Amino acid sequence: MHEFGIAYDIFETARKAASDNHATQVKKVCVDIGEMSMVNPEQVQFLFETLIEEDPILKGAVLESRVVAPETRCTCGYYGNEKFVCPSCGALPELVRGREIVVTHIEIEVDE
Ligand SMILES: [Zn+2]
Repeated sequence: MHEFGIAYDIFETARKAASDNHATQVKKVCVDIGEMSMVNPEQVQFLFETLIEEDPILKGAVLESRVVAPETRCTCGYYGNEKFVCPSCGALPELVRGREIVVTHIEIEVDE
């Protein structure tokens, strides 16, 4: 399943960041999901929650996902968010950004 690999990547990224920063608890994980990644954010959320259940540091962490609009560019010079038809010349624009899934921010708790 596509979403499982993504949820697992987010989980691993958060776990690594937590251990790199000597975290005792991860509170929140923020992730940007490109609209063109064709990923179902609710599904990712559900799988992430399943994955963290057995993890002492990540258990209870909140996954905050944000769907990010794609960025496209066209040979005519157009640059914007139109995915399928260039508004200036009608051609198919090229996708610059919008397929990626990026962990943008992690909130942790550290023992003093
Ligand atoms: Zn164009």
